[in-house]
Amino acid sequence: MSRLGIDIGSTTVKAVLLNDDSDEIVSSIILPTGNSPVETAKTAALKVSDGDLPTDICATGYGRKIAPFAIKDITEITCHAAGVKAMHPNAATIIDIGGQDSKAIRLDARGGVLDFAMNDKCAAGTGSFLDSIARRFELTLEQVAQKCLQSDNPLPISATCVVFAESEVIGLLTQGHDLADIISGIHASIAARISRLYAQVQGCGPVYFSGGVAKNEGMILALSRELSTEVKAAHEPQLMGAYGAALLA
Ligand code: ADP
Repeated sequence: MSRLGIDIGSTTVKAVLLNDDSDEIVSSIILPTGNSPVETAKTAALKVSDGDLPTDICATGYGRKIAPFAIKDITEITCHAAGVKAMHPNAATIIDIGGQDSKAIRLDARGGVLDFAMNDKCAAGTGSFLDSIARRFELTLEQVAQKCLQSDNPLPISATCVVFAESEVIGLLTQGHDLADIISGIHASIAARISRLYAQVQGCGPVYFSGGVAKNEGMILALSRELSTEVKAAHEPQLMGAYGAALLA
């Protein structure tokens, strides 16, 4: 029997369909959540299963309780742990950065959750900070990541709130600083926030990075620098929650 995992996030809805008799991903989809998470979740589930919904469906993510067709729901912490551990059996710590929250998850040897720490209060440690910078400078997220990689000199960003950080960034540009150094500084400031979560769970390597922001190579570099350890992007990082949900469906 095939299994379907659906991750209803604040920014995107992800759905993953697994092969009948293995844990391989047969098809997947990522859609912007938009204003109607229930409708988006239905569309994602139907599209990924070609209109033929399997009976074993598990929902996760902040909207997991609203998926009407799911037979169970499991927190994204457990699902990211299951997904990353299945893809990367040596993983010891997961860093998950999504659109509006970020987490550090410490795993035990079997992929169970030993401890986790989460920030869902402050945008400055999440993807939404990078999204607003991209919009402000009319860059794509890929261009934001490239700019970060072009700089060896991340400028310190002192503001503790995204709204103030945006005006600080404009101030730095007006003073003649290089945009790449400013954007690299923003990545470093996010990494510094994540390092507090990592310390809270007594993180250790190997560290895998999941969530949509793990597609940003600049963020991978900034985190590796900040944590003084190699941080690797999980395979299909943005799908890890939905993949874990499908495994547990
Ligand atoms: P959530 O589960 O909270 O809805 P996701 O894990 O889907 O969030 O992550 C969404 C975030 O991922 C976006 O806010 C964006 O910053 C980032 N993102 C998505 N695609 C890319 C990309 N190609 N490059 C860089 N960042 C990306």
